[in-house]
Amino acid sequence: MKHYNLNGQSAIIVGGAGYIGSHVCKALAAQGVTPIVFDNFSAGHEHAVKWGDSVAVDMRDREAIFKACAAHKTVKTIILLASSIEVGEGEKNPAFFYENNVIGTLNLLNAMQAAGQDRLIFSSTCATYGELDTMPLTEDMVQNPVSVYGKTKLAIEHMIQSYYKSYGLNYVILRYFNAAGADPDGEIGEEHDPETHLIPNALKAAAGLGKGLKLFGTDYDTPDGTCVRDYIHVNDIAAAHLDAMSAFDKGLTSTQVNIGTGVGVSVLEIIQMIEKVTGLPVPYEAGPRRDGDLTRLYADPSKAKAVLGFVPEYSELEKIIKTAWTFHSKTWNIS
Ligand code: UDP
Repeated sequence: MKHYNLNGQSAIIVGGAGYIGSHVCKALAAQGVTPIVFDNFSAGHEHAVKWGDSVAVDMRDREAIFKACAAHKTVKTIILLASSIEVGEGEKNPAFFYENNVIGTLNLLNAMQAAGQDRLIFSSTCATYGELDTMPLTEDMVQNPVSVYGKTKLAIEHMIQSYYKSYGLNYVILRYFNAAGADPDGEIGEEHDPETHLIPNALKAAAGLGKGLKLFGTDYDTPDGTCVRDYIHVNDIAAAHLDAMSAFDKGLTSTQVNIGTGVGVSVLEIIQMIEKVTGLPVPYEAGPRRDGDLTRLYADPSKAKAVLGFVPEYSELEKIIKTAWTFHSKTWNIS
């Protein structure tokens, strides 16, 4: 990993007990930055908080988040990852998604303002673009999200931009593509319950656990009929936060960037790579499309490189699958 000049700083990671959050904390600590985790532990895990203190706090609780920010007012950088993320759940329960994501973030922004904390790194998503025919996606393209999940993330982007314009909040919005893979040391990885993501579900099927993979849709307008995504290693996503912190130090005040590789990979290509890496077949059953899924999404990563100096180091597909498999074989006790 490259070296950053951030030694001695601190950052609050809201959602730091989650999959991406824990990798961000590890990457920060490796560069001498002290991570302080704020998490409600609804989806995150206490055992994933290994690199700093944690505060149990829910952003929906206005009083509690104001108190937590005030108690850490010397820490100027907030990294916001906490979010409801499961696309299908958002379609079933939008009230919960808007409350958790949008109202929760509004409380956090106000708490930051009251505490004088003026640097925010926000994890947004490629799902804010919606169904576009032109690929790769650049940051200036129209954002017209289809899913409730994408709509809540776009609403938050707009709130942050307003707080920049009117109150001087400095921000970097990172529009992640598909986070994948795990810490190469095998210490932390993806542990959602229930797990809805492709790579862990396909690995589970290869391991003979569960009933096999359900493949959501083979009639998309793509070369093999399955959806195309841009899979980016979670360590590279973590590094993007270090790039953003460094950019703040150099005077950056506001930007939004895609965090992807620029390479589109289909569901069937993921299955083939899993079979190659594990040496095991992936039993799967092709079924109907999943609500809210988009045909194809991949990034133009050139703005992230130009503005933040972001260059993926871990995101070769084979490495993504290998690191995920190392972590899951350990947690699933597969020898
Ligand atoms: N997918 C699938 N079976 C699963 C999970 C996902 O076929 O059990 C497909 C899904 O329809 C999408 C792709 O894999 O086309 C990536 O889905 P994932 O949930 O991992 O990420 P998303 O793109 O929704 O953020």
